[in-house]
Amino acid sequence: MNEEKTVSKPGLKVAFIGSECYPFVKTGGLGDVMYALPKALLEQNCEVRVFVPRYKCIPWKYQEKMVYRGEFNMQLCSDGRAFYVGIMEYIWNGVVYDFIDNQEFFSNGNPYTTLWDDVAKYCLFSKACLSALNYLEWIPDIIHCHDWQAALVPVYLRTLFSNTPVAAAKSVLTIHNLRFQGIHDIGHMKYWTGLPDYVFNEENLKQGYSNANMFKGGLAFADMITTVSDTYSKEIQTPFYGERLDGHLRYHNKKLYGIVNGIDVEQWNTATDERLAQKYDSTNVLEGKKANKVALQKELGLDEDPDKFVIGLISRLTDQKGLDLVNAILPNLIDGNTQVVVLGTGDPQYENSFRYYESAYKGSVCSNIMYDENRAHQIYAGSDALLVPSLFEPCGLTQLIAMRYGTVPIVRETGGLKDTVIPYNRYTNDGNGFTFDRYETGLLLDAINRAKTLYFTNRWCWDEMVQRDMAKDVSWDASAVQYCQLYRKLKPLKEEE
Ligand code: ADP
Repeated sequence: MNEEKTVSKPGLKVAFIGSECYPFVKTGGLGDVMYALPKALLEQNCEVRVFVPRYKCIPWKYQEKMVYRGEFNMQLCSDGRAFYVGIMEYIWNGVVYDFIDNQEFFSNGNPYTTLWDDVAKYCLFSKACLSALNYLEWIPDIIHCHDWQAALVPVYLRTLFSNTPVAAAKSVLTIHNLRFQGIHDIGHMKYWTGLPDYVFNEENLKQGYSNANMFKGGLAFADMITTVSDTYSKEIQTPFYGERLDGHLRYHNKKLYGIVNGIDVEQWNTATDERLAQKYDSTNVLEGKKANKVALQKELGLDEDPDKFVIGLISRLTDQKGLDLVNAILPNLIDGNTQVVVLGTGDPQYENSFRYYESAYKGSVCSNIMYDENRAHQIYAGSDALLVPSLFEPCGLTQLIAMRYGTVPIVRETGGLKDTVIPYNRYTNDGNGFTFDRYETGLLLDAINRAKTLYFTNRWCWDEMVQRDMAKDVSWDASAVQYCQLYRKLKPLKEEE
């Protein structure tokens, strides 16, 4: 073998299959990963195709650039019912995006609707992706599937597609969030998947007395399972975090690995970010953040004062994100020197409580109950600290983006938050942020107060932490190398290569 070759050479052919991908459609971190990891894999000499549904909500500026690559009729359901599948292609920065087209399934305004519809939608999508690979005669080394929406791909690969060319590929299934699994009654699932009866047993898809679980089946059939941090890969093997699949995951743990996510450092770059009031880098971060803070305060109607401590919260507003803790302590934070800026949508109970706090603490709290990329960038740049007190967090991207923007994360020690934020140590003046362990309001408040104390009484040490955070490598580079190493375990280099 050539001495100069790294593990990833010669390049692997990798197909990514998932339900969302930035900038076409994104509701959370999965969308970011589907965009950034393929880009990073190109750097590792991989050839990557990304498969996503062609949702109607994909902006027209992308739709109009898609090129028709072909169509076929695909038998899907157990009664032989067949559906149209179109392939629309868009090549961008070296990555080929193949959009699976079917207006009957993908015409809603949102990618996700009801579970009833979503199960059928993602059965069609999963099967269509494998059919499309055969149709395009592009047989990958690795089929990398993401979350429950693509979890049936490994199942189809080893059953209905086992005698087709695509079966030469190995499958990897990544758990981005185990909470969502695609569970429905067996009858509905048998009908829509068209899968043989024998996969609906306890070891594969069956769950409880009468349900089938798409994620469970995918985990059983995949050649390898990964999740998005080392800590989460261990947590999900315990009952508290395992979402009723902890036993299943313990059984399969020989093929389970954790690789922490990165972020796209071009997309998230303070030196070139057009959305910021003032661009900055590590050489002028202190002035840059001050200017962005005042611009944010002005934009949001908060009291304009660069010396106030601004805490940002950018999150889906759901139980997972620790918002009951935030709600409980928010009044304790308002002391005349602290401001809180929230950006998110989700459960009405949280949307309304944050609206209430905005009206109760005018000038100190601003709740942006919306999904807005521009505002997210402005908050990352204009805040001093970013709160991520999650109940569980597979990886979490917001703390990584925050560090890249010189914003100090305050996080609970779970999942990827634990793996990416080193707690501040006042004796050695080291670390990246403030952390707490047990899921308790008092501990969250204590962590925020420790941050505030450092900010107000020892600004020099605070500013050093800001610089350290900006310098931290949060890119995909190291993780992309690790993914390639795992892919290579499944597809070793042949001697002549
Ligand atoms: P999850 O995938 O669980 O929602 P992550 O931390 O992995 O959480 O990823 C969240 C991503 O979504 C980040 O890129 C964050 O900036 C973005 N985001 C979350 N809520 C909003 C919002 N309301 N507006 C804009 N971006 C948001």
